[in-house]
Amino acid sequence: MHRKVRETRLDHAHKTALRLVRDNQAVYAEDIAVAGLARTRLAKSVHDARWAQLLRLTEEKAQHYGRTFARIGRFEPTSQVCSGCGVKDGPKPLSVRTWACAACGAVHDRDVNAAKNILAAGRADNPNACGAGVRPHLAAAGAEAGTHRSAA
Ligand SMILES: [Zn+2]
Repeated sequence: MHRKVRETRLDHAHKTALRLVRDNQAVYAEDIAVAGLARTRLAKSVHDARWAQLLRLTEEKAQHYGRTFARIGRFEPTSQVCSGCGVKDGPKPLSVRTWACAACGAVHDRDVNAAKNILAAGRADNPNACGAGVRPHLAAAGAEAGTHRSAA
């Protein structure tokens, strides 16, 4: 049963990674060590291990299909900064799912706002990622035979 659950999770991680790489020219992610700084006592090692696995699989597939994959290489308080005006609005407990920026009044979904900040940081770190020309494997990203190429 344990093996079955593990294989199902790995299969799901492969499919998620493939979908991310297939549907996007560039994928930027908060690195686990960096994200961990912000999570403090909420950090869970099992969660961290799965996140690390998903990032690893996404990175592998991005390389294979000629897409850009990058980890945000510095600490960004991605859930505290308003993606609209850039003002740091301060820490928010995880129970806060939406919030309004005190500076510009924009109302944010917590995760969407953080994703926008990660995207902006990734683009700032990788200015030539998009528009780098046609890459040879770009058209082949539609299908992949087998989902267990990598060891767990
Ligand atoms: Zn704002």
